[in-house]
Amino acid sequence: MALDEIYQEIILDHYKNPRNRGMIENPDIDVYETNPLCGDEIGVQATMNGQEIDELKFHGKGCSISQASASIMTELLTKAGPEKAAKYIQAIKDLMNGKQAMSDDELEDLIALKGVSKYPARVKCALLAWTTLELGLLEHKGGSHSHPDES
Ligand code: ZN
Repeated sequence: MALDEIYQEIILDHYKNPRNRGMIENPDIDVYETNPLCGDEIGVQATMNGQEIDELKFHGKGCSISQASASIMTELLTKAGPEKAAKYIQAIKDLMNGKQAMSDDELEDLIALKGVSKYPARVKCALLAWTTLELGLLEHKGGSHSHPDES
């Protein structure tokens, strides 16, 4: 596996200096998921202002891709409304399928994860934080009976 291709500078920066890592005292969203394939664990917490994400934090442990992806997510989606959140959640799913609908500029640091799509075993690492947040947003909306994959 060509590690150089995945472990780019942006990923390492987020892994070593994670943004918004920690706990929120009274979160509206509090979801914890694991990726047994790799041993990644990600907890996502958020406070909500109506349907808009106010504060967004993550905690957990795991490989650099899972942790960097969580850090990138919190940076992109703090203060995001439901449309923006849905757009970026779809964007990373697209990237992991080798597709890209948004421009590199729009994707910001998320573009660093593009190369992960070539390594199916690592795709779940990159998606973990995002599917965890997606679940939390659905539960918050009161849609806990629907599946995150249905869109
Ligand atoms: Zn992993």
